[in-house]
Amino acid sequence: MKHKIYWIEGDGIGADIWKAAMPVINAAVKKAYDGKEEIVWQELLAGEKAFAQTGKHLPKETLETLKTAEVAIKGPLATPVGTGIRSLTVAMRQAFDLYACIRPVKWYKGIIAAVRRPENVNMTIFRENTEDVYSGIEFAANTEEAKKLVKFLNENFNKNLKAECAVGIKPMTEFGCKRLVRRAIQYAVKNNLPSVTLVHKGNIMKFTEGAFQKWGYEVAAQEFPGQTITEQEVRGGADPQGKIIIKDRIADAMFQEALLRPEEYSVIATTNLNGDYLSDALAAQVGGLGMAPGVNMSDRLAIFEATHGTAPTAAGKDIANPCSLLLSAAMMLEHIGLEKAACAVQTAIQNCIDKKTVTQDLAKEIENAKAVSCSGFGKLLLQEIDSM
Ligand code: NAD
Repeated sequence: MKHKIYWIEGDGIGADIWKAAMPVINAAVKKAYDGKEEIVWQELLAGEKAFAQTGKHLPKETLETLKTAEVAIKGPLATPVGTGIRSLTVAMRQAFDLYACIRPVKWYKGIIAAVRRPENVNMTIFRENTEDVYSGIEFAANTEEAKKLVKFLNENFNKNLKAECAVGIKPMTEFGCKRLVRRAIQYAVKNNLPSVTLVHKGNIMKFTEGAFQKWGYEVAAQEFPGQTITEQEVRGGADPQGKIIIKDRIADAMFQEALLRPEEYSVIATTNLNGDYLSDALAAQVGGLGMAPGVNMSDRLAIFEATHGTAPTAAGKDIANPCSLLLSAAMMLEHIGLEKAACAVQTAIQNCIDKKTVTQDLAKEIENAKAVSCSGFGKLLLQEIDSM
């Protein structure tokens, strides 16, 4: 069977990591399925490469193709300077309503981590991607817009804001929060995971973050009554009977919990800003962003991505680490039903770490490791896959 995958090279180290990663992904699929499954790659232009060829960072053809596509994978994209687009990655999330940012975080044995028991960290974060303070409604202090809004709030809602305030808006909807939590619970059900934790700051922001918590529990109760039970019910003596436990934690407490009791958390569902902080903090806990995979999804389209940036100082030097892209590709392979190939990619990476031959950034994190180039690392991964 052929699987059509759209790929975006990305800027900076994008070309280096793809050169190493694509043969590894192809080899894993070939090895795992004896040549019966195959990926058919089709490149889409975005970023500097697109600008050089079409004069646009996000050409119409790329947008049109993604309108009907189901799976794509991208390298990092630089934020262009001097154009109206704040970030191409954010522009794509908005254009295609990629409302769920999903980041699995786990430790790879051998990597020096910031915590004593990194093996206990195995969480998947579902971050809402389209709402919250990221919706871009912000007015600088002392502008006409800010003054107008402050005046409106003071006069109509009996507030006492200072006239010189900068103001931002935090819109959150029941629809937006519920579809994110629904997706997180579906993931827990599919992967037989023990809990889903709703992370929010509802003690302070009662009608936005607090509503996220309320709507989250509602989704669980109304749509997954046979598969979920609340932590409160369990504390009250109810037998969980193997059901998924729905918990909630205030965001600041969750940062502590993630450090002190990571084994108690599995799937995390959270709002946009909390999720942004939490995914980087958790990735750092187990050895850094270099190994962190991710995907942004709507109900139709999934765009997998290397979660790091373009690392401009490493670009073109054949020294970058392709693991984030490869682990995102492994997520993608699972998503399209090629789990055995995903497993081959992950095992090959773990084997190279075990043998202490890794790219320079990882070599610094592993005792007595030998640094190899990006392409050299790719070749070692190919050898690992070949010998499976
Ligand atoms: P960055 O991730 O590019 O770099 C941070 C540090 O990590 C640098 O020291 C870099 O050399 C290193 N690094 C990152 N990825 C690496 C890899 N695969 N192998 C080895 N070392 C790696 O972050 P930044 O410097 O803040 O951003 C640079 C550019 O990337 C900016 O234009 C930014 O907008 C963009 N960016 C894009 C994305 C995305 O497309 N998803 C994400 C973050 C940043």
